[in-house]
Amino acid sequence: MEDSNGANMFPWHLGVFDAHCHPTDTLSSLQSIPTMRAKVLTVMATRAQDQELVANAVDEYGISPDEANDAEMNWREGHRVVPAFGWHPWFSHQMFDEVEYNGASSLSPEQKVAHYQSVLNPRSEDETFLRSLPEPRPFGHFLGQTRSYLERYPLALVGEIGLDRSFRIPEAWLPAQVEGRDEALTPGGREGRKLSPYRVSMDHQRKVLLAQLNLAWEMQRAVSVHGVQAHGIVYETLAETWKGHERRVPSKKERKKQEAAVKVNAESAPNAEAAAETSSSSGAKPYPPRICLHSFSGPAETLKQYTAPSVPCEIFFSFSTTINSWSDSGDGKVEAAVRAIPDERILVESDLHTAGENMDSHLEDIVRMLCKVKSWELEHGVKQLGKNWRSFALGQH
Ligand SMILES: [Zn+2]
Repeated sequence: MEDSNGANMFPWHLGVFDAHCHPTDTLSSLQSIPTMRAKVLTVMATRAQDQELVANAVDEYGISPDEANDAEMNWREGHRVVPAFGWHPWFSHQMFDEVEYNGASSLSPEQKVAHYQSVLNPRSEDETFLRSLPEPRPFGHFLGQTRSYLERYPLALVGEIGLDRSFRIPEAWLPAQVEGRDEALTPGGREGRKLSPYRVSMDHQRKVLLAQLNLAWEMQRAVSVHGVQAHGIVYETLAETWKGHERRVPSKKERKKQEAAVKVNAESAPNAEAAAETSSSSGAKPYPPRICLHSFSGPAETLKQYTAPSVPCEIFFSFSTTINSWSDSGDGKVEAAVRAIPDERILVESDLHTAGENMDSHLEDIVRMLCKVKSWELEHGVKQLGKNWRSFALGQH
């Protein structure tokens, strides 16, 4: 389809699905959701301040489980949100393991200092700074809260969770900054504060990530994962969840033997193949059913680890124009990754903090970009990406 200028009209009517965004960071922007052109916004929670805001957004703009099952996707006007509940690595230090504090639900000022000293790198002796950090909360309590959100919203995913080796925690608010802060923004973010020299230890981040992956497995929900300067360790941590449950990939010789056996069995017992299938898939498999590596920026080798036939979990990769750095020549690292990803495992996202026209326009840009790199015709690409989102978020195959 072409408009009068000869440009390709964008096929919004086929459905465009944002796999990862944060519109609850700018609450007033939620009002624009009903008039957006995107079909779905997968809205992430990240920290103490936004879990309930995401829940409110589903109450108002959420797709119902019945609607999700409608093959024609005839949803009620304004229904566009699918939520995700989780704790982002940038806030992982604000969580303490109550097992280490005799099941305490809050920490004394001394314990608070000790907690931050144990999870921050390098260790800080600056007690004024440590005391100025947010009151840490018990991790078990958060997991319980997330579980009840997942129960309340059957379509909800787990996210945003992950690992980040590069971020440093911000300094405390100065009184003048508090006065001048933008009231339209949801509290808890950095908002231009200076960064401290402190990072959260990988051990602590991994603990927070693993517990949430475990919850996703238990509740059988898809997961949206953040990984920055930590591609190796993100892979290792995710792979830990499916260790011992890898798909066995038979050798050529074994495959031939199997095929011959199936033939013989099929003649004598028609259900032999089905029986073999069941016995190999029995037992608990403690990994989330589907994982999306959002704004994927890893190298080709990491990608190969995830797409290996032995990986039992379905791994998706989503891309944005906001975070991913696309090359002008079209032959950079991101493009190479996109080309190497199987067509049915690729997603688009805006990763934006404000809903509305700007989000639509970012989504259009990234869809066009992926179609170009994948050499997909636009309508074909939009349909493929829509199918991919439904298989990632809703498990519809
Ligand atoms: Zn994000």
